[in-house]
Amino acid sequence: MSEVYEFLCIRCPKGCRLRVVVDGDDIAVTGYECLEGKKYGEEEVRNPKRMVTSTVRILGAKYPRLPVRTAEPVPKDRILDVIAALRGVVVRAPVRRGQVIVENVAGTGVDVIAERDMEAVG
Ligand code: SF4
Repeated sequence: MSEVYEFLCIRCPKGCRLRVVVDGDDIAVTGYECLEGKKYGEEEVRNPKRMVTSTVRILGAKYPRLPVRTAEPVPKDRILDVIAALRGVVVRAPVRRGQVIVENVAGTGVDVIAERDMEAVG
């Protein structure tokens, strides 16, 4: 017996409505307008992933928190581990956008990077 899922593709602002039919090992995706959408539909049923955004403490900058994000999406069931791993992280200004803040966060194989520049003050 097959299972049917419906998702909005979030890979671009167009937001195509995907229909994914899973029948054993077979996955059939329809509704996409490009191959990114087909890939997204397959991943959503096999191994759903999300980008994680958060902040970490920063010392010596104008603001007390630095916005950060994962460099790539991480498996959905590891999101809370990623957030927990960022809790005690403290960095010192200056920081450059894209700078690695935590390597291999929570053992996911994905780095956490700075979302913006933050200059040192004072
Ligand atoms: S299927 Fe392609 S065009 Fe449609 S939302 Fe996804 S990425 Fe955009």
